[in-house]
Amino acid sequence: MARPHGLAYTDELLADRGPHGELLLRGLGPAPHGGRGKPLFARVNNRRQRRAMRYLLCQVCGQPAGRTAAGTLWVIDTPSYAAVAAEGFDVGFRQPPVCLPCAQIAVRVCPELSKGYVALRVPEVRLVGVTGVLCAADPQPHHPGEIRVLDRSATIAYTDPRLPWMLVGEIRAELVGATPVDLEAERGSAS
Ligand SMILES: [Zn+2]
Repeated sequence: MARPHGLAYTDELLADRGPHGELLLRGLGPAPHGGRGKPLFARVNNRRQRRAMRYLLCQVCGQPAGRTAAGTLWVIDTPSYAAVAAEGFDVGFRQPPVCLPCAQIAVRVCPELSKGYVALRVPEVRLVGVTGVLCAADPQPHHPGEIRVLDRSATIAYTDPRLPWMLVGEIRAELVGATPVDLEAERGSAS
């Protein structure tokens, strides 16, 4: 029988695979948010990041992200809207959306965001790829199933044929039709 193509856990569970059949990195990093601590945008637990992207939950509190007719609320740690626009919205962002109350706190206390940020309303979010550990089958394995690590922090699209060889940490989102908004002006809106 042919060797299975790609990575697998020996004690794999259904929860270890994402919607594209990709193998998910098991919960490493800080414990899931328990309602304590400061919002630290730069350090989102892998499992929580993926969940927040898939279900558009606030990356800080885990509740549904802020949503109005203009779309879900995202805060990107970048000096200016022009910088994000120049980079293009199609590269895929790793920071999940936020709810309005968390966004307003985060921009005041988060060190990353204090250097500059843009708030965006995004009508359409496409989950386009993943970041994680890219591996490959060892061409001359000493043991059956031996693999080697090619890149500990690789980003590839879901359509990339190397997807079976990724141990997926985070999901990347393309923010389609994003428009910049003023967080202060959003204060009067519901979310
Ligand atoms: Zn929140």
